[in-house]
Amino acid sequence: MNKTGNLFVVATPIGNLGDMVPRALQVLQQADWVAAEDTRHSGRLLAHFGIDTPMVPYHDHSDERQLVRILDLLEQGASVALISDAGTPLISDPGFRLVREARGRGATITPIPGPCAAIVALCAAGLPSDRFAFEGFLPAKSQQRRTALEALATAAHTLIFYEAPHRILATLQDMAELFGADREALLARELTKAHETLIFAPLQELVQRVREDANQQRGEIVLVVRGAPAQVAVDEAEQLRVLGLLMEELPLKQAAALAARITGGSKNVLYQQALSLKESR
Ligand code: SAM
Repeated sequence: MNKTGNLFVVATPIGNLGDMVPRALQVLQQADWVAAEDTRHSGRLLAHFGIDTPMVPYHDHSDERQLVRILDLLEQGASVALISDAGTPLISDPGFRLVREARGRGATITPIPGPCAAIVALCAAGLPSDRFAFEGFLPAKSQQRRTALEALATAAHTLIFYEAPHRILATLQDMAELFGADREALLARELTKAHETLIFAPLQELVQRVREDANQQRGEIVLVVRGAPAQVAVDEAEQLRVLGLLMEELPLKQAAALAARITGGSKNVLYQQALSLKESR
């Protein structure tokens, strides 16, 4: 690949156009192409800033030809600026395949930092931020969501989730049940926009507030949840130790069921952990 091919990964605002950073504007104006998830949506953003750089569509999971076309442009020495509908590309948004393939072919990758809803919410949460995990969107189906939450119930670090407004109540109810009613969390809605709302409260109280006020079930939402208390978190290591010992003597399902009864953990989660342990042995 021609060394001059440049892929810029450019963050754009998550609602407030005043958050567009000057360097992003400069790159979008000077690039040969802008690659966008939705060219009509992003076209309006570019028009607002008087930018007329031509656009190409890009989505990680759509037609392979989109990817090949952009790689070809880079190979010819063009500069391409990747943006998503809002916020930072690759963060619950398209881009990772393009960055990976472009780097593999020798393109220069330049990230242009800017807004990201997960980080904006974390900054407002006042929860420990030395260690945190971005969990993205939970599964839409109830049973799968509950299994995912069970697996996170003993994590000691702060957890960040994106959630759709029509699922927020059900998700908060599951969290209150599986993480504990008293666990603190921040419901961050419509960040940087006119109706920005930040509610910091124990999970059960958030359930009540969201149930009683339909406005809290609208717009874009980030949930930041405190990690498990240290005591619970330590139990995870103990659970794995017990599971490992039982797996030496018993079939996986039985080992997981017995480990769950001994340690008070979740049978489903321990079974998944047993499968991973078996693979790694
Ligand atoms: N790439 C984006 C970023 O950097 O934040 C995230 C894209 S993801 C497809 C969209 C989700 O991000 C929304 O459903 C919501 O959970 C969260 N989100 C985006 N903008 C937001 C905002 N202004 N306020 C609260 N959450 C937001």
